[in-house]
Amino acid sequence: CYSTQTENKITTVEKKKPKRRMKAWYIYQYGGNEELTLSEEAKIPEITSPKDLLIEIQAASVNPIDVVMRGGYGRNLINKMRTWLGRGSGSEFPLTLGRDFSGIVQQTGHLVTRYKPGDEVWGALAGQRQGTHAQFCIAGENEISKKPSSLSHIEAASLPYVATTTWAALITMGHMRENSFHDKRVLIHGGSGGIGTFAVQLIKAWGGEVVGTCSTDAVALVKHIGADYVIDYRTEDVLSRLGDIGKLDLILDPVGGEAQEATMKFLRPYHNYVTLVFPLLPNADKHGFLAGMAKSAVDLNFGITKGISKGLTSYRWAFFIPNGEALKKVAVLVDSGKIQPVIDKVFKLDELPLAYEKVEQKHGRGKTVIDMR
Ligand code: NDP
Repeated sequence: CYSTQTENKITTVEKKKPKRRMKAWYIYQYGGNEELTLSEEAKIPEITSPKDLLIEIQAASVNPIDVVMRGGYGRNLINKMRTWLGRGSGSEFPLTLGRDFSGIVQQTGHLVTRYKPGDEVWGALAGQRQGTHAQFCIAGENEISKKPSSLSHIEAASLPYVATTTWAALITMGHMRENSFHDKRVLIHGGSGGIGTFAVQLIKAWGGEVVGTCSTDAVALVKHIGADYVIDYRTEDVLSRLGDIGKLDLILDPVGGEAQEATMKFLRPYHNYVTLVFPLLPNADKHGFLAGMAKSAVDLNFGITKGISKGLTSYRWAFFIPNGEALKKVAVLVDSGKIQPVIDKVFKLDELPLAYEKVEQKHGRGKTVIDMR
């Protein structure tokens, strides 16, 4: 049972002396899995902004972004953002990776109004924050919501990053409206992965028709979560199947590449091809910040031209945006049974490098989760 007290304008969860040390995974330089180092005596982070909360993480997931950030992906742009937001200390190291979590609020900054210590919450954090592959993290009030009460922390941790990314792709960049998919047919490439298993269920929950692509062994899973048509891209001719199914109102592409872009021709004119394979971060890494931005503008223009040449289709990039309001709406869909977590494997905190190895293989069946307790 939790009680609250106010001390130095921070509301805290317990009257007994708070923990000062935690287990946390760090990297001290970019590289492979050998750079992942477990600290048993890491310092618990402190709230420095009045709208922030200290969360005790119960579970976190591993996403492809963690694996590529371990290797330095996005460092130029993300470090610029850290500096702009005053979170830069000269070096990003030691760096904790991991973007999402399910956990319990321990302390709240004095301008936090919607949460109190003891609340069970879930969230996905902006790239410039320290990550969630640790037993505690600092989150902003706008990056979290109350966790779905029907889920365990392990189950809940599987959803926030893929949910907010899919929300950004469909609503913010895809220009669709929630609950307005009733006469819409959506193609989701990679229907078996973390993004795909969530996106299939979200569009079904909103009344749409879904076509999913995946490998042979995942066909049953993608059908089970609700896809109306499943195309096995390994054994079937994707384009001829799509020709039989009919025109599409939206394509969500988390895979990228020529084979996926070839499906653009099945979109109705003026409808959106939304890709999550986003060149801005790698361009900034390769060409430096300003040249990288310029190169990305050229790349986007190239994508738009490609869309136009395929019949006035709109080609858009989408990327993860922290969104506590979207998580609140997703929690309602989860608690009403419309969206279920799809968990591939759960690892213990000490086994985190094995989880990275698994995600690096790029054939997840839903999500890989870490039990942080
Ligand atoms: P997962 O590893 O969980 O899933 C990967 C998916 O890709 C699987 O469904 C897999 O299908 C499919 N896939 C792999 N190789 C191929 C291939 N050659 N042809 C067709 N499909 C293939 O990853 P997530 O779903 O979590 O994320 C997917 C990608 O989305 C990330 O790698 C990243 O590029 C992008 N992403 C971008 C974000 C952004 O902010 N821009 C945020 C989140 C994700 P199967 O195994 O059935 O073959």
